[in-house]
Amino acid sequence: MTDRILPTKDIDQGELEEVVRLRRHFHQRPELAFTEFWTTREICQYLQGLGYSIQYGKDLYKNAYPSVQHISELAALDANLVDEAYAQVTSEYPNDPWLEQMQGGFTGLIATLDSEVSGPTVGFRFDIDGLPIKESAESSHLPSSNSFTSSNENMHACGHDGHTSIGLALAKQISEQIDQLTGRFVLVFQPAEEGPSGGKVFAQFSVFQQLDYFVALHVGILDARRIVCGLSFLSLKSFTVRFKGTNAHAAVSPELGRNALLAACSAVTNIFAISRHSDGVSRMNVGQFHSDNPANVISGLAEFELELRGQSNEICDFLYQRAQDVLQGIALAYGVEVEMEPLGEYVMAENGAASVQLMKQAVLDAGVPEELITDYELTPGSEDATFMMNEVNRSGGSASYLCLGSQTFGGHHHPEFNFDEDMLLYGVDILWRYIQRVNESEK
Ligand SMILES: [Zn+2]
Ligand SMILES: [Zn+2]
Repeated sequence: MTDRILPTKDIDQGELEEVVRLRRHFHQRPELAFTEFWTTREICQYLQGLGYSIQYGKDLYKNAYPSVQHISELAALDANLVDEAYAQVTSEYPNDPWLEQMQGGFTGLIATLDSEVSGPTVGFRFDIDGLPIKESAESSHLPSSNSFTSSNENMHACGHDGHTSIGLALAKQISEQIDQLTGRFVLVFQPAEEGPSGGKVFAQFSVFQQLDYFVALHVGILDARRIVCGLSFLSLKSFTVRFKGTNAHAAVSPELGRNALLAACSAVTNIFAISRHSDGVSRMNVGQFHSDNPANVISGLAEFELELRGQSNEICDFLYQRAQDVLQGIALAYGVEVEMEPLGEYVMAENGAASVQLMKQAVLDAGVPEELITDYELTPGSEDATFMMNEVNRSGGSASYLCLGSQTFGGHHHPEFNFDEDMLLYGVDILWRYIQRVNESEK
């Protein structure tokens, strides 16, 4: 049992059971980036029953991306995996009108409820995807001992099943009490947070320019039961770096070769020699180093993956500029060519002071002791909600990132990842109180 460090507030057992039921329902069927067909369908059906207007599938994507026929045109992923997952789910639910709209990987949705009383537009983001991790069957793992482990080869090993359930429980509360609220509520259920940056794809939807307030959230992360009102993340750029040289016989005519492997080796050591930056934290790493030549052939092709992270977009850009210089210099020295093919990108977003302050009030209202609340904190991970937060902030709104800290039982993306399920109800409660605070502040 975890120590109940957080609030003294009485937990409503009925509400807790419902949000836990939802979490366990989604936990059993994790779907990977842009294949969240079943998950999206489940969410749509739940919200339709609550009176939300739902934008999803091709209709959702077409305004921002009018000519795109398949999600693989927008995101770095394998189109076949998307199509195979679609074939699988449509064989289980034939002729399903929800699913038909999502063919090609157009998953996720945006649900809106309008109080029809003028007031602020408040948005929330919940990510819905799982990871390609085989879940632990150990009896010490709560989903295993309570019989709700994943039914497939994927796993909700980052808590996005929890985020989805918080979103639905909040949606229910908003719809039940809409006559006491003002303004408009926008619930964003975002696909593909893990990897191909669904947040970047979604950020192009015009709705983010209409939000006065916006909150994204995550459970876990801190490995302790405490709350951060304005969490920020590292900016990240990743690439495949490819050196192209000339093959040659290693003994007969080595002088005719242009050694890509040697250039790549030199590049790796010199990239790690790039200076740190005095403005803040930076990180870099290399992986997936390959050259297919046998030892009797001078390597004509070598590649590796490179990841750069910085506390600000400027620090990340600094690392990127320096890495480009290093790679170009080495290519020149070894007489080879080099290219950097982008793999992924996360940006840093500022937490809007207005949103953080309202959130702090909401967390206090929920009964969380002040010593367990932090206003701002940096975590060395990355998150694609930042693309949407930047759109909101740029358009004059105020966006922030809430962390519902909890133990993680092995850490994120681990086969035994889990979190304290009662944090889900705190999540719903805090977001609900945030809405009250926004409504009051705009009166
Ligand atoms: Zn994750
Ligand atoms: Zn996550």
